[in-house]
Amino acid sequence: MTTTSDVKYTMNTETGQIASIIDAEKVRADDEYVMHTYGRLPVTFVRGSGVYVWDSDGKQYLDFLAGIAVNGVGHCHPRVVRAIQEQAETLIHTSNLYYTAPMTRLARKLSEISDFEKTFFCNSGAEANEAALKIARKHGKTKSESKFKIVTAKQSFHGRTLGSLTATGQPKYQSSFAPLLPGFDYVAYNDVEALKAAVSEDTCAVMLEPVLGESGVYPAHREFLEAARALCDAHGALLIFDEVQTGVGRTGKWWAYEHYGVVPDVMTLAKSLGSGLPIGACLARGAAATTLVPGDHGSTYGGNPLATAAALAVLETIEEEHLLANAHAMGAYFVHRLNEEPIKSKLSDVRALGLMVGVQLVQSDARRVQTEALARGLIINAIGDSTLRFLPPLIITKEHVDQAITILSEVL
Ligand code: PLP
Repeated sequence: MTTTSDVKYTMNTETGQIASIIDAEKVRADDEYVMHTYGRLPVTFVRGSGVYVWDSDGKQYLDFLAGIAVNGVGHCHPRVVRAIQEQAETLIHTSNLYYTAPMTRLARKLSEISDFEKTFFCNSGAEANEAALKIARKHGKTKSESKFKIVTAKQSFHGRTLGSLTATGQPKYQSSFAPLLPGFDYVAYNDVEALKAAVSEDTCAVMLEPVLGESGVYPAHREFLEAARALCDAHGALLIFDEVQTGVGRTGKWWAYEHYGVVPDVMTLAKSLGSGLPIGACLARGAAATTLVPGDHGSTYGGNPLATAAALAVLETIEEEHLLANAHAMGAYFVHRLNEEPIKSKLSDVRALGLMVGVQLVQSDARRVQTEALARGLIINAIGDSTLRFLPPLIITKEHVDQAITILSEVL
């Protein structure tokens, strides 16, 4: 074991595993009562404001992960907090057997700022993708019993429920849970020829992330998404974009598809939509918008007044504070700073679309970098041995980027 410059953490430099001295008691209690499905870093966060969070010892951290692309407008944005407070005092839940105003308002707003006509609301990204998969299967079934095949990408990530896990093109997440859903094919991301070979008259949908997020920020090539659109049109299949991570301003536009000029039939959202309140959404246009009818699908909490009031406040904040332009500008500035010494020579690749940034380290020590950055008060995400992912709130300024760069320079 070696000790980092901050005595709070000890780390095994070979495995990258760390242990906390101060939080050992909390870690033990969590391990005893909470299912051990996450490899957590040993820090307990108790408060957040803007781009910062604080741990139980009062130590401040600059958050360049934003709850994995969730806290888009920052932690506890006053407008979102007010919307939640007011809605909580008014009406929290009634079920989808009745109409509620915040859901209607949010659905209308989403239509106004996108190319989609209708929205189905749920509570997470995986659930939004389940809705999209069900739209795809029903769409196919209305044409032919054999039109049920769904094409997705290798290295994609679409969630952990059985349907979204089947769509996720990563055997490491799937193998323990086989057999999964039948009828899925996987193609190498950005491989147009593989896509052409995989899509046929039996395909009911092609489902893609416009930027591979969980795998380390790999933006799609324009030709790949254009080919997907053309193939879906030619074969009567639906094009589904999973914008759970890329949506709601993350890439400097409301939706990543706008960068490519390729509009899907179905788009799924979650993460930043509620800036922390759990909400998922499946948006659709054309025939896909009316494929599901009463009885086909549902979710007890989906679109509840509390989550939809918060999401509406998030969208209004993004507009009023010009956060799309800010995400674009700060993404460019961050990439510019990463391409300067002393950091530049430690990286073999920098990939970005807006404030979705991934870097490849020359040395395979991503976990060490993540751990030592945390010890110095910067939250970032290590993916595998040599990739770092940054998903800061859309509200960051140049000063925050400079602060992160200073810490990264020390650590690298
Ligand atoms: N789709 C994408 C692109 C994601 O990045 C994620 C989560 O990381 C999901 C789906 C799953 O979302 P959730 O964890 O809200 O179910």
